[in-house]
Order: sequence, then C-alpha cells, then structure tokens
Amino acid sequence: MLTICLDNKNDMICDNLGVNEAGHLTFAGHDTVSLAEKYGTPLYLLDEDKIREKCRIYMGAMKKHFGEASMPLYAGKALCIKDIYRIMREEKMGIDVVSSGEIFTASAGGFPMENSYFHGNNKTDSDISFAMDKGVGYFVCDSVTELLAIQKEAEKRGSIQKILLRITPGIDPHTHQSINTGRVDSKFGAAIETGQAKELLSLALRQKNIAVMGYHCHIGSQIFESEPFISAAEIMLSFSADMRDELGFEAEIINLGGGMGVRYLPDHPLIDYEANIAEIAKHMRMICDERGMKFPAVRMEPGRSIVADAGMTLYSAGTVKIIPSFKSYVSIDGGMPDNPRFALYGSPYSVALANRMNEECDFVCTVAGRCCESGDIIQEDVKMPKPERGDIVAVMTTGAYNHSMASNYNRIPRPPVVMLRGGEDKLIIRRETYEDMLSCEL
Ligand SMILES: *Cc1c(COP(=O)(O)O)cnc(C)c1O
Repeated sequence: MLTICLDNKNDMICDNLGVNEAGHLTFAGHDTVSLAEKYGTPLYLLDEDKIREKCRIYMGAMKKHFGEASMPLYAGKALCIKDIYRIMREEKMGIDVVSSGEIFTASAGGFPMENSYFHGNNKTDSDISFAMDKGVGYFVCDSVTELLAIQKEAEKRGSIQKILLRITPGIDPHTHQSINTGRVDSKFGAAIETGQAKELLSLALRQKNIAVMGYHCHIGSQIFESEPFISAAEIMLSFSADMRDELGFEAEIINLGGGMGVRYLPDHPLIDYEANIAEIAKHMRMICDERGMKFPAVRMEPGRSIVADAGMTLYSAGTVKIIPSFKSYVSIDGGMPDNPRFALYGSPYSVALANRMNEECDFVCTVAGRCCESGDIIQEDVKMPKPERGDIVAVMTTGAYNHSMASNYNRIPRPPVVMLRGGEDKLIIRRETYEDMLSCEL
C-alpha cells in the first residue's frame, strides 16, 4: 500500500490542509497540535465549511445539468450524527437513510423527513412502521416481500406511500469486491436481466397504497471515472423506456445512487464532480431523445464525497518498535475501533507527523493501533520523521466511514468529535466514558 510524506506542498491532498510557521499541520485553518492539546487524543475533526462546499458543488451541478427538479441526497451511513442533519437541512439537501437508527438520528437533528429516502435490503416490519411514523418521504423498495409489507402497513394507516424500486443494472464498476453492489448477483434490488425488475414493477403498480415514483440503483463506491455512472444511467433509462412501452409506466425520478470517489493519496486523481455530472447528463439526454422520453428528475446519493476530506483523526504516538532489517512500527492510542477501514478493505490513507511537518520523512513504518489484533493497522509503509512518544500522528480524509463504523472493541471508548467552522472549534460529541460503555448492561 502506497503512502506519502507530507513534506512537500504537492502532497497536500486537499485544500483544507496546510503547514504553519511552527511547522505544525493545519486543518481548516486550525493548528492541529493545539487542538490535540485542548481536546486530547484520539480525536476526530470535522471541517464544516468543506462539507457545505461539497453539498453546494453537487446541488449546483445537478440543478444546472439535470434541471431544477433534481437534487443530491446525502448518504448518512458515511457519517451519521445529529449535527450533519442540521447542515443538510440548511443546505436544502435530501438524505438517504438505511435503518431506523439513522431515521431517528436525522429526525432528532431536525431534518424534514419528507426529503428522505429509506434504503436497505431487509427492512423489518418495525422499520417500515417506524419510518412511516417519522414521515419518511420515499421508500426504496428492494424486493417483492418488502413491497407487500409496505403495502400492508400503508393500507392499515390509510396512507399512500411513495416508493422507488431498487434495480440492479448488472454492471461492474471495477472497485473493491465488498463495495461493489450493482452486479446481477448482488444482495440488493431486482435485476433487469432476470426479468425480476419488471415483475417487481408490475406488482408494485397494482398496489392500492403505493405510488411508484421511479427507480434507484447504486453501483459501488470510490469510483473515479464517469463511465460506470453513464452506463448505469443508460441502462436505467432504457429500462424505463421499455417499461413505458410494456406496462405503460414512465418513471418521474431516476436515482443513480452514490459512489463518486475521493482523493486519499496524492496519486489519486482530483475529481471534477461537476464535469462528471455534466457528462452523465449529456448521455441521459441522448437516450431520452432517442426513446422519446421526458427527462426525469435525477437524484444522486453522495456519502463519502461529501464528508471524507472534511475529516481528520489525530492520535498520539506511543511505542516505536524497530525490528532491524525487517520493519518498524509506530503504535498510536487509537486504531481499528475508530477506523476499521484498513483492517476491512486495506484502504489507503495519508498519514503525517503533525507537530514536525518541516522535518525530513526518512523513517518508514507501519502505523498500528492499540488493539490485541495483528490486523489492527491504520496504514503500512508510511514515511515520516521518526516519532517520539507523544508526537501527534494525523490521518487525513477520515470524515467518511470512520465515526460511523467505530466500535468499542477492546473496551476502547469512542473519540470525541470537534467541528471546525469559520475559525471556531466546537466540541459536538464528547469523548465516550467507561460508564457509557456499561450503560446498557443491567
Ligand atoms: C453506500 C451508499 C451510498 C453512498 O455511497 P458513497 O460511496 O459513500 O458515495 C449511496 N446510496 C446507497 C444505496 C448506498 O448503499
């Protein structure tokens, strides 16, 4: 796994990173070493201005290229805390939610739930009922059994539930297996290829308490090119045209899911989200013209690309272990409980020694966590100045799928979250206590 030394400016993977006169790493204009002193480590940081900037890029580009009826939905599984839903409400974003817990959090954060889309391949009866209680706008229906369960609950309430049907377009976006969800053999949705998508639609159109609004697909994550999205959009529109011809139903909404990539390393490309969206829109217009269809309202569901580079994790270095002619380890005071992504997928991250940014990066090491697992690693082959105990280790781009995937493995409390906004730092989630970890034990 490739990592980098942040000792030259080109290595700054995002424009919210910098180095100040003290030789300290800065994030969103704040001295990270001072933040580590003030709040302790491990510590999650969030850059609110960057989150808003990303929302506006998606919102602006989607309205411009897909039309006014289109909008982005923030995929809450990337980072699901109350404060995110305050930002999403203020930015007029929609959201996607995948569980009753996410619905509860968004609702507690004051989000208007009519703009939410409820996903999941196994919504339980209690999830369906809870979502309706909270006024979730759209269900993204995954299967026949779920369709019938939604119909039953809506009928009981005398309401009409809007739904999208989750369709498996059957394409392979060449990313990691475990984050590749658009193939025919996926656990999600109904495949076009097998005829099941048409069967699901046909059944949905016959339900009295269900209003079918369109289709949804999600092909994967951390995708850098626009081609997989273009193929997905083309397949979805062709399906929509076929269904208009065969069943007389034309979709109002096409939801293309999430998955646009983020730069974790300097050699990852810097993605031009607007250019990608423009390209997708161009191809969609061609299909609509060819098939004589009205251009649909489009939804996209970015999660990672909204919050990833708005996040950073700070740790303190502890034991430095050098095994001559083998390898060296720098152990930190966090690890897989706050960031399981290297352990799960071998995910790349850029790492820096935040209090000694101007020193030469001549020490190659594996940055390891503190858990009783050899696989508890944050990154391998990291170059940094040889750390001393107490130095601050910064891991970049941890805004997505870190806090939301965190655990208490080895009974390690979850780190606090500090929100950085316009020059201010505010503690929005306090550090978990040992008592918190016992709070459900009777
Ligand atoms: C995970 C997921 C997303 C978000 O994906 P990102 O790669 O974080 O943009 C959006 N929609 C659905 C249905 C998902 O499962």
